[in-house]
Amino acid sequence: MNYKTSYWLMRILGVGGILVMLIGGLTNQTIVGGIGVVCVLAGTIQTSFFFHCPHCKRDLPKRTLPKTCPYCKKPLD
Ligand SMILES: [Zn+2]
Repeated sequence: MNYKTSYWLMRILGVGGILVMLIGGLTNQTIVGGIGVVCVLAGTIQTSFFFHCPHCKRDLPKRTLPKTCPYCKKPLD
């Protein structure tokens, strides 16, 4: 998995997980809420393994998908 896949996975699991949590909360289903929490956690945790620069291997800032690495300045793509 490359850093781009990792970024989108974080986004999708984050948003999806929060929605699932909300649904679980609204319908009073603890298990559904738990699945949402697991999704958000999984999305966050996987970034520490996969969301890093392919050149220098340092962790990238998670707010945006950068075009160049802020550390080694090489173009990411
Ligand atoms: Zn780099």
